[in-house]
Amino acid sequence: MTQKKMMIVYAHPDDESFGSGGLIAKYVAQGVQVDYVCATDGDMGTPDEAIANEQSTLAEIRLRELECSKQILGINEIIRLQYQDSGMLGDESNKAENCLWYQWQNHADNVTQRLVEIFRQVQPQVIVTFNRFGGYGHPDHIAIQQATAQAFTLASDDSYAGSSLLPYKPQKLYYASIPAEKFYGFYLMLLRLQGKDVRRMGLNRDLDLQAVQDNLEPTHTLIDVRDYMDLWDQASDCHISQGQGRNTGTRGMLAVLPAWLRRRIAGYDRLTRVFPEPIGSEIDEYDLFKGVTD
Ligand SMILES: [Zn+2]
Repeated sequence: MTQKKMMIVYAHPDDESFGSGGLIAKYVAQGVQVDYVCATDGDMGTPDEAIANEQSTLAEIRLRELECSKQILGINEIIRLQYQDSGMLGDESNKAENCLWYQWQNHADNVTQRLVEIFRQVQPQVIVTFNRFGGYGHPDHIAIQQATAQAFTLASDDSYAGSSLLPYKPQKLYYASIPAEKFYGFYLMLLRLQGKDVRRMGLNRDLDLQAVQDNLEPTHTLIDVRDYMDLWDQASDCHISQGQGRNTGTRGMLAVLPAWLRRRIAGYDRLTRVFPEPIGSEIDEYDLFKGVTD
């Protein structure tokens, strides 16, 4: 049997842990080679107070944090694309030439080409990226999702002129949903009851939590990660500069719950299968490698 390989393609040093820490740990434990393509070095992320006195640059700190989560989750290799981090839509920083959003708007072919080469070189059977809304609408997330979807198709296209490597056909493409998707509407209701404007959350008031729910896609694949929640937490804890995920996002939302309830609610990862195309919008598999052939 050929080595099973899964490739996670996200934007920032922390997306792998906050979003998919449980999923990665589970498949590593099963002997799958999991590689993480990280599009940026996270140099624009808002630093937490905890590191305000650090002498290193934010990118240096975040790459150290990523190395920590790599060790804990057992990721095989971090493949960095080294774009500059983008801000939310309309942010001035998005005009910087090396930022991912600018590159995606102006040189999309180059971004896609780099992914095609990586897919052809590493040859993962399974590829996981964000949903089409980039989870919560972050431009870097949207850009890397679109690039991944294009590269997934082009990797096996023998007429593609952008790479001299042999074509390779990855077998499955998934979009990760948010953990505890079912609980999310309840969470929004609680926030509203506290008088919060769920369309304007986060430090910069640019996080629209309602839009996250409006853009969720159907779940076809459910993965039981209950046994990997401690590793998931430990990996998230590596990302100190990003508040270990406790300030915002689904980890923050679940932190208020007792452990047993959190395990029940968040212990199942939900994914949308894009390829092979599902027949309906129901859950029809419980393993990302179901149907994968040598
Ligand atoms: Zn991110």
